[in-house]
Amino acid sequence: MVNQKKIEEAVKLFLEGIGEDITREGLIETPERIARMCTELFAGMDETAKNHLQKTFSVSNNDIVLEKDITFYSVCEHHLLPFYGKAHIAYIPDGKVVGLSKLARTVEVYAKRPQIQEQMTVQIAEALMEHLRPKGVMVMLEAEHMCMTMRGIRKPGSRTVTIAKKGCFEEEPKLQDYFLHLIGGKI
Ligand code: ZN
Repeated sequence: MVNQKKIEEAVKLFLEGIGEDITREGLIETPERIARMCTELFAGMDETAKNHLQKTFSVSNNDIVLEKDITFYSVCEHHLLPFYGKAHIAYIPDGKVVGLSKLARTVEVYAKRPQIQEQMTVQIAEALMEHLRPKGVMVMLEAEHMCMTMRGIRKPGSRTVTIAKKGCFEEEPKLQDYFLHLIGGKI
């Protein structure tokens, strides 16, 4: 659970730290506002993917299931600045599927916490392997990182692409090609 009081105190100290006057009108409610916002931005801290992936449906068709262009917003744990973009998730069922919205929910669980993109990609793939037990999973995230665009080397528009492959996707390059083809071709 987010500790709102602690966040409010921290934001006050932070504002003082950058030389601000925390009593001026524009900032007076900022600490409380940020504390409230954190319950939404970091809602994934109190959630597990299991909640969303435990209800499965039996299928006889084990063809690929792909959900692409799942928009996500996360916060990089090195700078506490946003990174955001799209997630693409594919799996080959082994007799079981989940509701399609559950894939997006799983992305949210891992996006809404301090995060690094590489780790988030693997966490999504591992959660699906663990709870759905498919023949294989492939996850790709493409995101723009504000810590790359508004500071440091300042490269607006550059995207970071990360991939995680498990099971048959790891073993069969043809399936990886098929995945890339389905999500629209090239990286
Ligand atoms: Zn960063």
